[in-house]
Amino acid sequence: MTTYAYLLDLGRCLGCQACVAACKTGNELPQNVQYITISEKSWGKFPTLQSVIENKRCYHCAEAACVSVCPTGALFKEDGLTRLERDKCSGCGYCVDACPFGVPKVAADGLSSKCDGCAEVVKAGGQPWCVKTCPSGALRYGEREEILAEARQRVEFLKTRYPKARLYGESEAGGLGVIVVLPADPETLDLPLNPQIPAAIQTWQKVVQPASLGLTGLAVLTTGLAAFIARRNHHKELERMRQQPMAKAAARPTSDTKESDR
Ligand code: SF4
Ligand code: SF4
Ligand code: SF4
Repeated sequence: MTTYAYLLDLGRCLGCQACVAACKTGNELPQNVQYITISEKSWGKFPTLQSVIENKRCYHCAEAACVSVCPTGALFKEDGLTRLERDKCSGCGYCVDACPFGVPKVAADGLSSKCDGCAEVVKAGGQPWCVKTCPSGALRYGEREEILAEARQRVEFLKTRYPKARLYGESEAGGLGVIVVLPADPETLDLPLNPQIPAAIQTWQKVVQPASLGLTGLAVLTTGLAAFIARRNHHKELERMRQQPMAKAAARPTSDTKESDR
């Protein structure tokens, strides 16, 4: 099966924000919501001061932490993309805490919000809004193997100017759906070397979640048992009430009896 991916070439990104605007318009995002964050990062000292544009978005991890903690199935993997069905989101915010890149946000309507990879546009054979709009070729979308080959070439080219240039996303988090060409170390650009679910969330997944599921199961069982006992008692009471008038009638003296008694 062919896997697709995005190329994000930070050696080419101008920081123009055209992708941010195209994403917001194309996806009809509310005023305070955006799926891409652009900023400038500098390092070194004059005269060797260097700077690049940081371009943060969902990386569509193959082993997506957000998907693994989502209790309702609102987050799921499809064709390499990490998708979000907001109708199914409960607003619990577990994905916000689990994502090693700090991507999902709980929006003003109380539901999780993040890049859906323009899944519907891509399914219809189109290009994602951000890719279509980028004026510098910093963004591309295509077969992952081709994207990887192009990214490797770009890294070699960039090394003449940025000696620490490297690829990011080939194997991180099981392989990202966004292959990033980095002009510097991941740490310099605030990207985790080994993106993982935070330890506290891992503990919650291993210990608290199964325990709470167990407790939920116990609660369901207890409620069911209580309902059964209540129903049985109700039937007994009805039966007793039915029996009572019959017993009274049987005990009451008949008119014949009264006559004979006179
Ligand atoms: S970057 Fe975060 S939100 Fe995107 S797929 Fe990975 S874990 Fe999920
Ligand atoms: S792929 Fe689509 S939803 Fe994701 S950042 Fe680009 S335009 Fe926005
Ligand atoms: S449109 Fe392209 S060049 Fe402009 S900020 Fe986005 S990725 Fe960078």
